[in-house]
Amino acid sequence: MDDCIFCKIVKGEIPSIKVYEDERVFAFEDINPISDGHTLIIPKAHAENIWEISEEDLAAIHIASKKIAVAIKKAINPDGIACLQLNGRAVNQVVMHYHFHLIPRLPGGPELMMTDWELKPGDMEKIKQIGEKISSGIE
Ligand code: AMP
Ligand code: ZN
Repeated sequence: MDDCIFCKIVKGEIPSIKVYEDERVFAFEDINPISDGHTLIIPKAHAENIWEISEEDLAAIHIASKKIAVAIKKAINPDGIACLQLNGRAVNQVVMHYHFHLIPRLPGGPELMMTDWELKPGDMEKIKQIGEKISSGIE
């Protein structure tokens, strides 16, 4: 896509701090990092979100995420890494080219805000109904 910032990164038309590349995947450092080592993994082929991306590219991203997580562990030895991926403007996806975030929590660093939610018991009847509806839609 001509006007997509991440497609331009893949093509080298705008600079990035690349950490990994293979046939399907490109990974680089986020320039507004939530923590040191915040890395984005994207498909080279433009796809906006989880509904559009091919299964092959999705698999390649997850395989790459393992390699990169191992390298992040060696580099900065985080206490943990949050893997996050947003689909749609309603959940604050800003760049409309699929990207998988690896966000390390540094040793002794602050809690990551997106991992800190309150557990409240749900309505089991409603949970069951929605679960069944989702399950019956699996193709
Ligand atoms: P989101 O769409 O909310 O999942 O996040 C988009 C992410 O892309 C943000 O964390 C931005 O900091 C990051 N980002 C946007 N432009 C660039 C760029 N040119 N290089 C690296 N990261 C970027
Ligand atoms: Zn793109």
